[in-house]
Amino acid sequence: MSFRFRSIRSSSGGNCLLLRAEDTTILFDCGLSSMKRTRQVLEEHFDQDRQPDAVLLTHAHTDHISYYPLKVLEQQGCKVMMHADCIEQLQSKHFKGYGFNDLQMTTFGDESFNIGSIEITPIRLSHHPLLPTFGFAIVCNGKKAVIATDFNDGRDIIEHLVDADFIFVESNHDPELLRKYYNPNSQFHMSNPQTAELLCQARKKSGFPPKAVMLGHISDQRNTSAIAIKETKRAFKKHGLKVDFNLSAAPLKHPGPEIEIGL
Ligand SMILES: [Zn+2]
Ligand SMILES: [Zn+2]
Repeated sequence: MSFRFRSIRSSSGGNCLLLRAEDTTILFDCGLSSMKRTRQVLEEHFDQDRQPDAVLLTHAHTDHISYYPLKVLEQQGCKVMMHADCIEQLQSKHFKGYGFNDLQMTTFGDESFNIGSIEITPIRLSHHPLLPTFGFAIVCNGKKAVIATDFNDGRDIIEHLVDADFIFVESNHDPELLRKYYNPNSQFHMSNPQTAELLCQARKKSGFPPKAVMLGHISDQRNTSAIAIKETKRAFKKHGLKVDFNLSAAPLKHPGPEIEIGL
């Protein structure tokens, strides 16, 4: 009994993550740039007769969802789910005024809910002040995963990271590169040192290590996978902690390896 995770895209250029359990498959976000690209990704990862059971959206920023992927999800009859607080922004930013007649869109609230055998708990994240944003704590076959990108306060998720088996967390930018290539929007994202410190605190509070931690939503210009991983390792060393789990970074623009969590 296990579940499998794969990052399909993870950066400010597009986000799409895949979680598979035995009987249930969920996509987290569908931030793909065109209808063609969205169809390609769905074809690559799903059989024609077995679409994702749900596409969960984290927030309404264009790198996570937009009109064209929504159009494909409508055509494919995919179930799309989003927190009720995000719907207004989704409509105003991405419905282009005319909306979607056949889109299977449902909302959830703050409470946990199930998609097949997977239990999902929404986590409210501090991100852009005008855009409600959510991460997710996921329980599947007794294993716990946390997916959280697009936030700037580790206190939002620390309790969920404790004793998690798998963590996908944003490590967006390197402070030095941010000084060099300033972007005001970076303030809404976790820097490498912030994420590293958060992971150290979570490891200290946990009774066992996660099987894997994957750093994601890495900035194209203000970070690299190597710098993000190095910063996490440096922080663990500083705290006298071992990196006793598989630590990796999600590729920005193409699918990463499948990670299996469980027995
Ligand atoms: Zn984003
Ligand atoms: Zn965002």
